[in-house]
Amino acid sequence: MAKKISKKDIAQLLKAWSQQFAVLAPSRKRGVAEMAEWDGKDVSFLDWYRNTVVPPKASFLPPMEEMFRFQKDKDNYKIEPPSKNGQKQLIFGIRPCDARAMAILDMTFEDAYQDPYYLSKRKNTLLVGLSCANPCESCFCTSLGISPSESADVDLMLTNIGDHFFIEEITAKGKELTAKTSGLKDANKDDEAEARKAKETAYNKVTRKLDTEGIKDKLLASFDDEGFWEKAAAKCVSCGICTLLCPTCYCFDINDELVKDEGARFRSWDSCGFSLYTRMPMENPRKEKWRRVRQKVCHKFEFYPMTFDIIACTGCGRCIRLCPVNWDITKVLESVPAKAKAGK
Ligand code: SF4
Ligand code: SF4
Repeated sequence: MAKKISKKDIAQLLKAWSQQFAVLAPSRKRGVAEMAEWDGKDVSFLDWYRNTVVPPKASFLPPMEEMFRFQKDKDNYKIEPPSKNGQKQLIFGIRPCDARAMAILDMTFEDAYQDPYYLSKRKNTLLVGLSCANPCESCFCTSLGISPSESADVDLMLTNIGDHFFIEEITAKGKELTAKTSGLKDANKDDEAEARKAKETAYNKVTRKLDTEGIKDKLLASFDDEGFWEKAAAKCVSCGICTLLCPTCYCFDINDELVKDEGARFRSWDSCGFSLYTRMPMENPRKEKWRRVRQKVCHKFEFYPMTFDIIACTGCGRCIRLCPVNWDITKVLESVPAKAKAGK
């Protein structure tokens, strides 16, 4: 049965959960909105939060992460694995689009190569979703089959119903958590009706639409249409923001920091939009900007669907909101020629 909690009791709720988990919640303390460790009192994010600038992937694939330390022995290197941080974490307020992004990232990180750094954090994390009541103009999640209150990818889903949040228990882990949480009330029929209304209202507020029908095949047919891609890439300045802050992008670089005979190996976010991308192990096969823009678009809408049968975009709109030159992925996708040019 669904539960509810009074809004004035949210700080209490997070305090109780902090006894069992490292609780992360929306924060602007470092200047941009991100999921950060909750400070034990501040719930003002309930007033300002629409979505974070830094996507929640940062809690699983940090912008920079130490992989291991090493020390040179007589003639070999001694490897010291990272200390295991087995602490459970709970992300409070993740938006449905970003929860879907985590499910999309899982496909890569638990594919042929199982990434232990990412997967151990994923296994230890509960996702408590917060339905979006006020989507941005740049959001187009509904075109990707995700509603602003989609609950498929979270453990618990909260929806704003006035003085209260309506709480849906989605997974066994979510149910277990509410069973152990005091202060929750059973929701009644009126609450259910309120939640339904709030969800419908939010759904209708997502006005930006993208027709994804046949997009994979159109991209496949237009792959070699240099003229189209040059035009599509014309105003991009290769800053990388749209990939670094995309919740489904996962490129990383690996560096060793060495001082005398000891050091550490780090991995850090990278972007296929950079001209220096992959220069270290080889040459960047995408020297021209249009090839890099094509890669970014096709990776999400052509290659990922070919590999995992899902579009690797959630319509979160960050790449549109945050681009310094107003490059718009929906406009590019809308203008992909229906058929390859003759001779291509
Ligand atoms: S954010 Fe805009 S300018 Fe920067 S790489 Fe992406 S499309 Fe290009
Ligand atoms: S491509 Fe843009 S809209 Fe799609 S998930 Fe990435 S940042 Fe969000």
